[in-house]
Amino acid sequence: MRKHIVAGNWKMNLAYDEAEELLDALTQKLDEQPLDENTMMIICPSFPYLELAEDYCHVDPDDEENEDTYFMVGAQDVSANDNGAYTGEVSAEMLESMAMDFCIVGHSERRAYFGESDEMIAKKVNKLLEHYISPIVCCGEVLAEREAGKQFDVVRKQITDGLFHLNADEFANIVIAYEPVWAIGTGKTATPEQAQEMHAFIRSLIAEKYGKEVADNCSILYGGSCKPGNAKELFANPDVDGGLIGGASLKADDFMAIATAF
Ligand code: PEP
Repeated sequence: MRKHIVAGNWKMNLAYDEAEELLDALTQKLDEQPLDENTMMIICPSFPYLELAEDYCHVDPDDEENEDTYFMVGAQDVSANDNGAYTGEVSAEMLESMAMDFCIVGHSERRAYFGESDEMIAKKVNKLLEHYISPIVCCGEVLAEREAGKQFDVVRKQITDGLFHLNADEFANIVIAYEPVWAIGTGKTATPEQAQEMHAFIRSLIAEKYGKEVADNCSILYGGSCKPGNAKELFANPDVDGGLIGGASLKADDFMAIATAF
């Protein structure tokens, strides 16, 4: 059975003490109400807070034998280059050295504001896999593309150009997040039917390329104004395996309500 995943994308939010407060509140809630075994929580803070999140993620930080974690930790981006003269960038090697498990790649904000192409996303995916970090690869159409009925062509191209150079063993480490851009931070959510239709389409692309088993094992997350009030009906769909959550991941109560909505 593939994993259910709720990943919190904190984006460029929170001062250090606010991040601490949120992690305090979250771990307290996870103590009171542990997630079911098939649900994985991932926290993706900005780079300066990765170590802080690592400090909080272990259920018993004093017991080195105990590998139980409240959540996994992921970065929000990575450089497409190896270590070197790239001021301001953070490499996959650095993330590996900090024990990162996941990294978001190709978020629509990176595509729109930093000009990230599918080609660059493919390079970032390669760097992460070289360093044993699972990429959470985002795809999704903008409103004009959906209104023109082009959403499937757009997503097919993003998936093909960003990911289909991988072999099946490499692809097994990929998590996909379908995030219709018109739903991100806007309060407009895709309907459960729209989400299921696109997720099933993405899974069919994977099956065509790598076979049914690889497709069935790939977790495909929905992102875009996912909230406690709509998570249950989104996650009830057979091809929706969880969510990449922006705004609602900044409130411990809301994020926990989403993480327990399966
Ligand atoms: C996101 O940024 O990935 C996202 C889904 O944001 P929000 O939940 O705020 O729409």
